[in-house]
Amino acid sequence: MIVMKFGGSSLANAERIRRVASIICGMLSRRPVVVLSAMGDTTDDLLAAAELALKGTVSVDAVERLHRETARELGVAVADLDDLLTELRTLLTGISMLRELTPRSRDYLVSFGERLSVRMMSSYLCAQGVPAQFYDAWDTGFVSDSNYTAADLLPETWVNLRRFFADYCGENGAALPVPIVTGFIAKDSNGFITTLGRGGSDLTATVIGAALLADEVQTWKDVDGILTTDPRIVPSARTVPVATYDEVAELAYFGSQVLHPRSMQPCIQTGTPVRVKNSYNPDAPGSLIVTSHVTAPAAVRAITSKKSVVLVDLVSTRMVGQYGFLAKVFDIFARHCVSIDVVATSEVSVSLTVDFKRVNFPALQKDLEEYADVEIKNDMAIVTVICDVRQSSSILAASFEVLAANGINVQMISQGASKVNISMICGSSEADTVVRLLHERYFGPGGLCGG
Ligand code: ASP
Ligand code: MG
Repeated sequence: MIVMKFGGSSLANAERIRRVASIICGMLSRRPVVVLSAMGDTTDDLLAAAELALKGTVSVDAVERLHRETARELGVAVADLDDLLTELRTLLTGISMLRELTPRSRDYLVSFGERLSVRMMSSYLCAQGVPAQFYDAWDTGFVSDSNYTAADLLPETWVNLRRFFADYCGENGAALPVPIVTGFIAKDSNGFITTLGRGGSDLTATVIGAALLADEVQTWKDVDGILTTDPRIVPSARTVPVATYDEVAELAYFGSQVLHPRSMQPCIQTGTPVRVKNSYNPDAPGSLIVTSHVTAPAAVRAITSKKSVVLVDLVSTRMVGQYGFLAKVFDIFARHCVSIDVVATSEVSVSLTVDFKRVNFPALQKDLEEYADVEIKNDMAIVTVICDVRQSSSILAASFEVLAANGINVQMISQGASKVNISMICGSSEADTVVRLLHERYFGPGGLCGG
């Protein structure tokens, strides 16, 4: 069996849904479990509706229009459509009365997107004579912790999924309706709806694939797989044919939107291959993600960038030759619940980057100043080169040659322990230029990767 996951833009309207239905129908012999995101921009529309409700206006117009029009165009009556829209309106009314949106109610609110899309697809497939059955993820066994907006799945999810899909995966499973499951959402052990973080449908799909030991997990997007860089920055970006889980995890974490950062974890455990495909161009081979490279890959796989990061420079002359400096520093970050992305150290100093969001810098700075002189630089960017770090000397030489020739000074550099990334820190305003220059140097004519 396989898992097929379709993202929001693959489901943006009636036309797209017809395409996806035909892609699913072409795979019926492989016994797919289908995982869907919300249609189009529904998740963002729901969040926008919440913002409006906080200001006192209740409107489900955008979401209602998209789903009613799509249903009409597809000529189907969508199960629960009226009930879900009524429930959504009631929830928004509650938010508008309380003028309060807790992380828990935010998760409840955005869950409507995926709940609507699975009902839309299964109604359409059934109308086409393909028996299908929609499920809310919790009905199939998805249980998470209560870390609303970024919940982690509990290990029992795996056991639950195996039990739930045993018949479908079993001998007579082909006779059963195709399961269409909501991505992104789960319930905690108190029965409250949670979400797995933006883009979390990828994780839903890989967990199902790993738990059921699927032949592969296909994630269908609107681009030809994983690209060598963001095509909005470099229109000539190419598809990466094969990448490893580690490479993709770093890529996702450092800004590429191709897959959810945590979505590789389940497949790392089971070695389940993941294929990234383009629903707009289904014949393109896409990218294959596996445990390790079988044939020697090019020196550089891809380049990604993450803007709006903060660089923290700490210098402690007091601690020269003493142990415990780094421990103290990291402990302070941990106490402030700040996650660190990239680190470079010397005997008396450490530079590190943190995500701009959610950090109370004055409080953090005050605590750090007990041990070091602190300099905080805003508006920085991380440019990450996903590569074979064993070839780092030639990769770095090529990188610095082109950056120096263009007058760009990188402020910090770090080589990840996973042996697949080199990260460079520069100003946010320089990031796109750095990406363009490096891409040309690696993938352009005469480049390091034989372009
Ligand atoms: N609909 C959710 C989002 O837009 C989850 C997903 O698409 O994977 O983030
Ligand atoms: Mg989405």
